[in-house]
Order: sequence, then structure tokens, then C-alpha cells
Amino acid sequence: MTENKKVRVRYAPSPTGPLHMGGVRTALYNYLFARKHGGDFVLRIEDTDQGRFVPGAEKYIIESLKWCGICPGEGIGFGEGPYAPYRQSERKPFYRQYADQLVRSGHAYYAFDTPEELEAMRKRMEAAKVTAPAYNAVTREHMKNALTLSEDEINRRISGGEHYVIRIKIPRNEEIRLHDIIRGWVVVHSSSLDDKVLFKSDGMPTYHLANVVDDYLMKISHVIRGEEWLPSAPLHVLLYRYLGWEDVMPQFAHLPLVLRPDGNGKLSKRDGDRLGFPVFPLEWQDPFTKEVSSGYRERGYIPEGFMNMLALLGWHPSGNNEIFSMDELVREFSLDRVSKAGAKFDPEKAKWFNQQYLRMKSDEELASVFVRELEKQSVSHGFALPGSDYIQRVCGLIKEKAAFIGEFWNLGSYFFMPPAAYDEEVIKKRWTPAARAFFSLLRDNYASAMEFTAPVAENIFKSSAGQAGINPGQVMQLFRVIISGIVGGPALFDTAELLGKEAVVTRIEAALQKFT
Ligand code: GLU
Repeated sequence: MTENKKVRVRYAPSPTGPLHMGGVRTALYNYLFARKHGGDFVLRIEDTDQGRFVPGAEKYIIESLKWCGICPGEGIGFGEGPYAPYRQSERKPFYRQYADQLVRSGHAYYAFDTPEELEAMRKRMEAAKVTAPAYNAVTREHMKNALTLSEDEINRRISGGEHYVIRIKIPRNEEIRLHDIIRGWVVVHSSSLDDKVLFKSDGMPTYHLANVVDDYLMKISHVIRGEEWLPSAPLHVLLYRYLGWEDVMPQFAHLPLVLRPDGNGKLSKRDGDRLGFPVFPLEWQDPFTKEVSSGYRERGYIPEGFMNMLALLGWHPSGNNEIFSMDELVREFSLDRVSKAGAKFDPEKAKWFNQQYLRMKSDEELASVFVRELEKQSVSHGFALPGSDYIQRVCGLIKEKAAFIGEFWNLGSYFFMPPAAYDEEVIKKRWTPAARAFFSLLRDNYASAMEFTAPVAENIFKSSAGQAGINPGQVMQLFRVIISGIVGGPALFDTAELLGKEAVVTRIEAALQKFT
């Protein structure tokens, strides 16, 4: 491949279902690589296998990429470019000529075997204890194909309209070498490859032929894709060679697998279901079974945090920093810092990233989301919705305690209505006659306070403790429970200030009434 070729990469999903997290990471790395090198990023839909087509999957893929902020400059859903169409089913007329070219040069051949004959071959092989039965350099000699049938017979079958496929003729006894940016040199012996179908009887190419032809026609410079495609890469190298394109063949980079949290195998939807985390970016409803799978978006994840987490799943930056905006990722990213070993997904770390990104959001932005929840709660609990300034200040206080906006209501409902219940253990342990006397004094002192800022509230609290002859430490937690109902929360006197003098006094009074 020529080194100075313009960087053009592609993400080439098949619309066979929702996009898995691993697929999103592949798209992300392609996107980062393209932007880093001032190149192009293409979205191509590989839908040649009509039998595996799932309605809605393509739309889902596009929506997911948009939500993630991974926007290709060219291709389906993002404004087509100079190499349109970008959906392989619409490129059907392009492929046949290349299959024919391979047949003419002797690197591919027609095969007429029926499904029953293929099955019988597989059974024979199994009976002969062949571990991986395949249509290959050995077995093809015994099958119904252009290598075993006479010219007349071949012509007769074709003109009779018989179904046939075109298979690649894998060379015997050859070493196929390919260079992978992440893995270095990979050497595969041709005896381990089979004569894959390149062109099907339905007039469609298979993935292998379409993928190579399109990468060539679309001038793709780097193929960055999941490790599961590494076994296909030697076949692709042979196709580039036989089609005469080896000198412009893209460079390969096969990304490590995304592994389960325990490192035991590839992360699957089942692991997510079992361990309670999504594996898809957006919620997905299977159009056939109607089963709904949860998505990161619906769970309240912030897309920038989700991207940051995914970027570090297999790639490691040079320093210790873990927080990167998309622009910073573009600057830092390089394929030589992508590891060969599988990357373990850690759902707790995903939450941690969300928490970091939540904290970075302005109170105003958080409030604009939280207010939707508050509107619902105000109707069901009958409280008046406070002004936006108050809501913003609440967000500012509780965001430190939350990983998701969805937790805000549970963490801070007491900012909007008096607690309905109190932490029983604290009351039982701490509500003593001395504490009662203290709170009665505190109520009066607070009620007559001229101003009610956090420092003032704290000073009055301490001086009241002095007056009552009690250690402030003994009544601090109790005070929190009296005004919020729960233990733990943002800074106590900031909370009191925001609630305001009246609410605090009323809540102390309510506790004095309730607990004798
Ligand atoms: N269509 C393949 C997939 O679904 C693309 C593999 C590749 O990038 O070459 O992942």
C-alpha cells in the first residue's frame, strides 16, 4: 500500500440486529483515526445476506451513532458522498464483473452442489474424523464444480438455469502473510482456508467479495474492525492479490475483543441481562420476538461519558488521565496504543465515568432535565414547583452524590417537600431528652435569626449546642434526619440554607411534635 494515500476508513455494519457496544467502539476508533489524520470516515451498510436482514436495524445503527456523537462524513444516514450508493444491496450490479474476472483468471470457479450434496460431504468427512469439514483444496476434487465437470457439462448446467455459486480457489500449499497494525505479521497456511463462496445463486456477492470490492472502489486506506474478522483477512488478501489490487490494499487493524467483566469470553447480551447492564447504546425491541433490551441512553448515561469509557476499552493513553473529551481523544488516539489482548468491560467503571460527566454538567443543564421529573412528582405529591433558580441550586448540591440524573429525585425529594419518614435507626439511637431540649432551643434561635446563610445557620447551631450543654457532634446527624429524613447528603448547612429558615423551623417543629 502506498504510504501517502489519503486516510479513508469505514464502519461497515451488517443490519442484522442492534449495534453491540463492541461495534460502537469499532465505529469510534474509526472516527477518531479519521479525524486525527484529517481523513474521511464512511458508513457502509453491508446487507448482502438477505436471510439475516432485520427490519429497523439500519435505522437503529444510524440513530446510535448520532447519539454517540460519531458522525461519518459520508454514507448512509449522513449525507451520501462521491462513492454512492453506500448500501451493498443497492450496489448489486457492481460485483458480478469481479467474480467473473476471478473465474477467468482461474482463481474462482462455479460450483453446482446442492445443499444435500454439501451435507453428504460434511457427513463423509465427519465419519472420516476430519475435525473441520470444509469445501477446500482436497474435497473440491470430489464435488460438482467446474474443476471436476467437463466444459460441456458446465455449459449445459448454466444454460439450463441450474443454481450455482462461485467459489474462490484457495491455492494449495501456500503461506499467506499479512501485516496487522496491532498484531504485527500474521502468517496463515492456505491449507487452513476453505473455498469460500464469493457469489451466491441469488445474484448477490457474499460479505467477502463485496467487502473487498467496496473497500477498493471506495478507496479505503485502513480497515479497522473487530478481531472476529481476523480469520477472514488472509482470504481478503488473496482477493486483493487475484484482482490485481494488492498495491493499493488497505492496511489492517484488528481490534481486541470486548470481554465479559470476569474476562471469561466475549461480552454478550446474555451477560448484560444476567449482570444488569445494557450492551446496546439505545433500547432495542426485537421486531420478531418483541423482546426489549435496555440501552445506555434510556438508562440515563451521558453519551460523552459513554464514549470516553469505550475509548479506553482496548486503547490506553500515554499519561494517567482518564477523562477525555472527543476532541482530546482525537488528539491522543493512535492505533499503536491499542492492545492485542481482549479488554474487560467493567460496568462499575461505566457508572464512574457517568458520574464524572454528570459533575461536569452545569447546574442549569441538569435542572432543565430534572425539571421534567419534578413536574411529574409535583403533580403526584401536590407541591408547587419552585423557580428554576432553586432547582438549579438543588442540582448543584446533589450532583456530587449521584451517578445519574435519574437518582436526583430519590436523593433530593426533601428539597421539595417535607420528609414523609425519618431514618428510624438514627432517631432511636439519638433522640434523647437532651437532644429534644436542644432542638426546641434551636427552633427558637433559628426562628428569630435575621439572616439564614449556611455560616449563620452553623453558628447558631453551635451556640445553641453550647447553651443546651450538648456536644454539636451528637445532634448533627439527627438534624440532618429531621430536615431531610435520610442520612447522608450534601453539606448540611448548605442544605439548610437552601431549604430556607421557614422550612427548617417547620421541620424541627414537626419532629418535636412527632417524637416525644
Ligand atoms: N459487515 C461486517 C460486520 O458486520 C464488517 C466487517 C468489516 O469491517 O470488514 O461487522
